[in-house]
Amino acid sequence: MKAIRLMTLGFAAVLHCAAVLAASTPEQRRADAALDHARLVAAGSEQGNWLAHGRTYDEKRFSPLTQVNDGNVQQLGLAWHFNTNHSRGLEATPIVINGVMYSTGNWSVVYANDAKTGELLWQFDPQVDKSWAVHACCDVVNRGVAVWNGKVYVGTLDGRLVAIDAGTGEKVWETLTIDKQWPYTITGAPRIVKGKVIIGNGGSEYGVRGYITAYDAETGQQAWRFWTVPGNPADGFENELMQKIAETWSGEWWKLGGGGTVWDSMAYDPELDLFYIGVGNAGPWNRYLRNPEGKDNLFTASIVALRPDTGEYVWHYQETPNDGWDYTSTQHIILADIEWQGQPRKVLLHAPKNGFFFVVDRTNGQFLSAVPYYPKTNWALGYDENGRPIENKELDYKDKPALIHPSPMGAHNWHPMSYSEQTRLVYIPMIDSLFQYEQDKQFKVNKGLWNTGMKPAKTPDVEQLFNDIIARKVTGGSLLAWDPVLQKKMWEVKHPLTWNGGVLSTAGNLVFQGTADGRLVAYKSDSGEKVWEFKTQTGVIAPPITYTVDGEQYIAVQAGWGGAFGLAGGLPPPPGEPRSRILAFKLGADVQLPPLPDKQLFDPPPRMAVSDDVLAHGKTLYSQFCFGCHGTDAVSGGAVPDLRWMAPAFHENFKPIVLGGALSGLGMVSFADVLSEQDADAIHAYILDQANDAKEKRDNPDPQWWHDLKVKVYSTIGELMAEHL
Ligand code: CA
Repeated sequence: MKAIRLMTLGFAAVLHCAAVLAASTPEQRRADAALDHARLVAAGSEQGNWLAHGRTYDEKRFSPLTQVNDGNVQQLGLAWHFNTNHSRGLEATPIVINGVMYSTGNWSVVYANDAKTGELLWQFDPQVDKSWAVHACCDVVNRGVAVWNGKVYVGTLDGRLVAIDAGTGEKVWETLTIDKQWPYTITGAPRIVKGKVIIGNGGSEYGVRGYITAYDAETGQQAWRFWTVPGNPADGFENELMQKIAETWSGEWWKLGGGGTVWDSMAYDPELDLFYIGVGNAGPWNRYLRNPEGKDNLFTASIVALRPDTGEYVWHYQETPNDGWDYTSTQHIILADIEWQGQPRKVLLHAPKNGFFFVVDRTNGQFLSAVPYYPKTNWALGYDENGRPIENKELDYKDKPALIHPSPMGAHNWHPMSYSEQTRLVYIPMIDSLFQYEQDKQFKVNKGLWNTGMKPAKTPDVEQLFNDIIARKVTGGSLLAWDPVLQKKMWEVKHPLTWNGGVLSTAGNLVFQGTADGRLVAYKSDSGEKVWEFKTQTGVIAPPITYTVDGEQYIAVQAGWGGAFGLAGGLPPPPGEPRSRILAFKLGADVQLPPLPDKQLFDPPPRMAVSDDVLAHGKTLYSQFCFGCHGTDAVSGGAVPDLRWMAPAFHENFKPIVLGGALSGLGMVSFADVLSEQDADAIHAYILDQANDAKEKRDNPDPQWWHDLKVKVYSTIGELMAEHL
């Protein structure tokens, strides 16, 4: 009996080893990663793999897998987690091939993990020059790798393209894709078509001229380069196309490059052999400075179709002519075949920053429709039949500041959408945003730095609104289900915070999206009903993916708060060890994340210099409006945060929280209907007074008091911030 049992165990052990070894052998990984054109064109048929950035060349981010579905998703649990040991934003879409996951993290580091266990198989650190981060607007992020013929390709923040052996993680070749005299960066994922690795770059705000380049995947030799904006006419144009589009520019645009960087979206139609790129905003943003004659400025804020073999131009459609708002067209491009006005039509679906949802014929670039998916969009009133926007003249910022929806963050940013082949809906991570645009008439170029030509200052009457809505992150975000045929919203889920994650849809009638407040959530694709969620301990901005290993379906996502919003918010990093992780889930699993670190007690800012009357007024108001939840005399009973130990960010955002409702998603609603600004200041003064009393007590060595404080005080505000921002 004993022998048989041992034998059984031994057999199981051998099987287990074989499975691990299969994924762990460099030769096997290299062979599995030997993607060619046929496999990438047919990527959709490899149901258990995720072979390309958008899963398939049409970038639908839809999986036919149904093992995890709306009937059993409640049983989804954490199968493994991998800590990158960084704490900044994670934005990558992992590639998964036969049980191996290739992804990227901060500073363009590449990871190969066992997709079943999370075990790190290899890691490649391209040793990015960290000083180059000064040229990166939006965090030291990377959106992922491409795989081809046994090699993994990454674009680095400092402008290199690197080919890595999929088996060992060793560098095969690298090439510099930029002229380092100019502040270009790379954060996007390369795409590979017929043996050419295609990569763009970012930097429009910093003063660069946009382009995209293709390199031979085996040698790194440059195959072609497509410039998106013309250079200085005095230097001679590269080709006739540049000469032609130079007619759409005015002034001395070349001095700051003109912008038009191709920093994220690309898609490919193998049948039409067309390669689509989304082109960035014109730089600097101030169009009166950049473009005094008000011309269109091609190809900024456009979608351009190219031949992938040669980079030859085929067609373009410009979504925002003479862009003056940072309205990039670099948002995720989806290719779909739909019934358009009763006829089958090959279209391109696009929700760029500018707030309109575009349907474009992808065979020829013909404009079909543009409808605002973001209802507050006010820079344009609509689009005419020729596909040109009808600008809202009342919000022209030429002579006066203008308050415009959406902001430079866009109504949708880089976070990928998804198109479900089951529901035929597009799921959009939408952003509710607002910005005051005003010309900086004293603008001077800061070479290599932020150059928008816009005034950062705001007029006093919108200062408060701006602080509440933009700088204080109190705008919201949504997951929007959009019917591209009807051009209308089918359902919407509102999130408490802005800057939520990319989207995955599956044939299990599920849509997965991470949130800024630290959750991965599943909804029914058809109705938007929430059916599952998992607390991720940090904000999620990356898009989830799904794959199978040994017959089991996994949902995986990178969880790591950051990106443009994570930086601009100016909030402190969460306490404790870095939490930027890869998380993978499967049915029946129940791995736990390490517990959150001990709650932190933040020293309060100094007392406010106010009169005793103001303090007394603050105490009265506190006792009237605040004590019910936050405890008498600002000493919390434990159920909600003790205001005396608030993290610094809460003091800095006191009024946006108390009056603006910044944390209404957490239950702290706005009291603007009962409190004036002076009232709020008085309450703040009172809380600071109490807080400094408590701090003095804490610093006075009374061990019992300190012990009680640590046990009782609920200074989870830092934690809540970490979890919810
Ligand atoms: Ca931009």
